[in-house]
Amino acid sequence: MPLHNDQHIKIYNTLSGKKEDFKPINNGHIGMYVCGPTVYSHVHLGNVRTFMSFDIVFRYLKHLGYKVRYVRNITDAGHLENDADVGEDKISKKARLEELEPMEVVQRYTVDFHNVLNTFNFLPPSIEPTATGHIIEQIELIETIIKNGFAYQVNGSVYFDVHKFNETKDYGILSKRKLEDLIHNTRELDGQSDKKNPQDFALWKKAEPQHIMKWPSPWGDGFPGWHLECTAMSTKYLGDQFDIHGGGMDLKFPHHECEIAQNEASKGKAPVNYWMHANMLQLNGQRMSKSTGNTVNPAELLSGNNNFFSKAYAPSVIRFFIAQSSYRSVLDLTDAGLLASEKGFYRLMDAVSKLEKLPSGSTSTIDVQVWKQSCYDAMNDDFNSPILIAHLFEAVKYIHQIKEGQETLTDKDLNVFKTTIKAFVFDVLGLETITKTEGGNDKLSGAVELLIKLRQEARANKDFALSDQIRDELAAMGIVLKDSREGTTFSLN
Ligand SMILES: [Zn+2]
Repeated sequence: MPLHNDQHIKIYNTLSGKKEDFKPINNGHIGMYVCGPTVYSHVHLGNVRTFMSFDIVFRYLKHLGYKVRYVRNITDAGHLENDADVGEDKISKKARLEELEPMEVVQRYTVDFHNVLNTFNFLPPSIEPTATGHIIEQIELIETIIKNGFAYQVNGSVYFDVHKFNETKDYGILSKRKLEDLIHNTRELDGQSDKKNPQDFALWKKAEPQHIMKWPSPWGDGFPGWHLECTAMSTKYLGDQFDIHGGGMDLKFPHHECEIAQNEASKGKAPVNYWMHANMLQLNGQRMSKSTGNTVNPAELLSGNNNFFSKAYAPSVIRFFIAQSSYRSVLDLTDAGLLASEKGFYRLMDAVSKLEKLPSGSTSTIDVQVWKQSCYDAMNDDFNSPILIAHLFEAVKYIHQIKEGQETLTDKDLNVFKTTIKAFVFDVLGLETITKTEGGNDKLSGAVELLIKLRQEARANKDFALSDQIRDELAAMGIVLKDSREGTTFSLN
């Protein structure tokens, strides 16, 4: 029997602003769509946080035995620089600036995106469709929306008629905006636009002669509007109505609002039952931004080559750091925070490495079932990974107590205990063991062992200044010494 029969998930639904009981449309199956990257530059660390949040959701749903179809798209056309449908296509612009074919830009940054995600041990989605691979579907969708009276054509472009839509439906249902307020707050587009109203959005844009990425359509050569691709691809692979749609908080409006409008206007129904939004990642208490210089990219964070952090951090440490806060809270990336997470991560992994050697006893002094269910309860409560991690640290305490003989577990309970810890640490959180001799560098091991020996001599001579200096300087190089009764061991970060 799959685990999900006994576990009842609640999901915070942006649509209702409440945690709701999760009920998939088809029992045992889940359709999940997450807006992927626009591949015109290196993936932003904030995006890594968003995708990691949904990686953990995906992992947990799979762990529960659901058959999950997870679709995460690649935006390789149609994403303009400005939400008001003006400015250049981001990929075309990059191609022009770097004198590349647009598909070279797309290829370069798609590969980069996958490399970064692989480094952080992401599971690949079930389908990763591209906007340029679904032009026909997008044209068909526009034709239906025009036929249903919710879009109009002007000079080779097609716009969604937000005012018309709002007469019978609710534009703003997701982002809790009112059309009247939007009208009040939108700047007039100096007569430059073909739109009837500034709130309308482009479904198809006419391509100017110099535009390189364009396709023939019933309205002339052009390219699809950015919001449209997600409607086309989500419904193609998941059906006109599906379970979960995720993305970063910044996509709620206008992108996701427009997805709902497009679906209602073409299929006559709301596309998504549960809308989930991951919150922002800040750097040292401030919004990350290239223009202010308050930004760090994944490669710089991993290499330590940046102006913000005292050292390099391993991918699993960063993963652990991200999982230590709820996907719905703003997460502040700081050196102190990462150092604390690193300490916690090694403490957890050190305990996990002791699991196989734990002895079993004739009775159980810990209620393993209660502890196990508390791990599930945490994840069932809107994927609350920080609470799950708190329960894993309870297990760390148990591991040490069992090892010291203060607590005991029967063979059967010990097995449940071990299986549960491993499932949550490796399968659900996606953490990876960082071994002490990673890279198999024997010369390094020899040199560090020598320093450990010198440090022991220093301590024996009560030269604690020297012993601390050895430990701290090694730590600064990413070599962490760990003292225990059995002696000193080291690990590489
Ligand atoms: Zn999208």
